[in-house]
Amino acid sequence: MSDCLFCAIAAGDIPATIVKRTDSVVVFADINAQAPVHVLAIPVAHYDTIADLVQADPRLTAELLAVATQAADELGLDEGYRVVFNTGKNGGQTVGHVHAHVLGGRHMGWPPG
Ligand code: AMP
Ligand code: ZN
Repeated sequence: MSDCLFCAIAAGDIPATIVKRTDSVVVFADINAQAPVHVLAIPVAHYDTIADLVQADPRLTAELLAVATQAADELGLDEGYRVVFNTGKNGGQTVGHVHAHVLGGRHMGWPPG
């Protein structure tokens, strides 16, 4: 998808603070952090939502979660963290390329604000 912001970040066409990269997954800092640590994990391949991704490629879904949690460990979130997939309009998804938010570095309240 040529007009997709996160495809452009994965391709290196738009700068981002990359914290981890594998052949199929990229993890980068959220530009508007909601916690002391806030990164986004995305598949390099474009899927609109987590629902689309898990249907199309369960193995890549597992890889996305594995890399996201490895990044959390590497970022020192040993006291815990939150992984969130905002999905669709009511889920608050604003970028249409599936991404896992990994948030930590403070206690994450519930419900989220
Ligand atoms: P969501 O609302 O779940 O779709 O999350 C999209 C996230 O992408 C938000 O937390 C934004 O702050 C973040 N974001 C938007 N543009 C960029 C960018 N250029 N680099 C890093 N993060 C971004
Ligand atoms: Zn994309």
